[in-house]
Amino acid sequence: VRRNPGESEFHQAAHEVLDSLGPVFAAHPEYAEPGLVERLVEPERQIIFRVPWQDDRGRVQVARGFRVEFNSALGPYKGGLRFHPTVSLGVVKFLGFEQIFKNALTGLGIGGGKGGSDFDPRGRSDAEVMRFCQSFMTELHRHIGEHTDVPAGDIGVGAREIGYLFGQYRRITNRWEAGVLTGKGTAWGGSEGRTAATGYGSVLFAAEMLAARGQDLAGLTASVSGSGNVALYTIEKLSALGAHPVTCSDSQGCVVDEKGIDLELLRTVKEVERGRVSDYAERRGGSARFLPSGSVWDVPVDVAFPSATQNELGADDARALVRGGVRAVSEGANMPCTPEAVRVFQEAGVAFGPGKAANAGGVAVSALEMRQNASRESWGRERVAAELSVTMAGIHRVCHETAERFGRPGDYVTGANIAGFLRVADAMSAQGVV
Ligand code: NDP
Repeated sequence: VRRNPGESEFHQAAHEVLDSLGPVFAAHPEYAEPGLVERLVEPERQIIFRVPWQDDRGRVQVARGFRVEFNSALGPYKGGLRFHPTVSLGVVKFLGFEQIFKNALTGLGIGGGKGGSDFDPRGRSDAEVMRFCQSFMTELHRHIGEHTDVPAGDIGVGAREIGYLFGQYRRITNRWEAGVLTGKGTAWGGSEGRTAATGYGSVLFAAEMLAARGQDLAGLTASVSGSGNVALYTIEKLSALGAHPVTCSDSQGCVVDEKGIDLELLRTVKEVERGRVSDYAERRGGSARFLPSGSVWDVPVDVAFPSATQNELGADDARALVRGGVRAVSEGANMPCTPEAVRVFQEAGVAFGPGKAANAGGVAVSALEMRQNASRESWGRERVAAELSVTMAGIHRVCHETAERFGRPGDYVTGANIAGFLRVADAMSAQGVV
């Protein structure tokens, strides 16, 4: 805390991982060797830069850009870029730290990093977003590359932004280096199935947790928060597997739809019109209510998918979900549940899938995109979907088995943290003090 003042999200994420490692240090004291944990919590490199850009009225605006290259023991730094006014060094470091363990869990040879800017794309024209992305990449290009650091999307960075970023990278470097960014359009180096992968993966992880208890998703009601990339494809996959998603939200309120979310309408409002969930409720008619100050967590459901942002689900929300009979919670977002909320779920015996395991499907398919770029191949949708299912089942298995091995059966938080830690720590130790 003294070395990293004001980085509360990073402190929270680091505590959460380190608190789980007691059983590892007790059984294998070599992991407690001086220096290993200290190296793990210190990024290999952090870059902070000025991003000047001109708005449509010709005024110069100045945003701040970040890239935290946290750990490359297992492969090139890999992790998304977030454009949101709340982005700060502490937020980027928390996301980068989580990413190290998440990427290790995929087993796909990728290190951990994250970046972004406090630029707010909401309400900006396409031309403004393009100029911002070009300015951002004008600095970032010096630090990334297919063998060095491979950014992707996150909050506020979708297909449009990745397109502008890739265009500027290509222009500055005069190289067709598809593997420098993931989440590209499928016509120019992107992978089929990447857009849907995080949401689909989070639902597959929930299905695995339920199956381990002899239960099935089909017929269950579900709440989902957010209405961005992760939330939309969570809703789509839930419907495809016979569950009933009944909520979505954005920063202005939430929607409860008794008949179940109409995916086509929500996609039109969000992806085509870039509108709000209140527009969805207005167009949907009688079955949907928009609640400007309501919470999706007050709705009694069988399974819950927090898929918007960090610390969006607190202890009171968790208690409300438990009272409503929730059986499983799968974190689509990064660290959406506070530590107190996680404790409430665990004490109530709810199957709880932490983000670094449950939302790893997106980065896993990004790693497959890098593989396709390296071999100049492009795989069909079915092949990517099959790989995603196998990867999510594998992540579930390793978390489940590791939790059991270290005396915490059914505790996916401990399982994910220890399994991810062991992979990274072994690679770091083998590579010497670097
Ligand atoms: P999007 O930008 O597509 O959507 C974000 C959604 O969350 C929007 O509905 C947004 O509402 C809402 N939201 C964002 N910030 C806040 C806030 N401070 N308060 C309330 N609501 C908020 O982002 P993604 O769907 O890509 O990301 C969602 C989460 O999933 C993030 O935690 C991200 O790190 C994580 N994640 C994403 C991956 C991906 O592949 N995209 C991979 C793994 C994790 P509004 O429009 O009103 O801001």
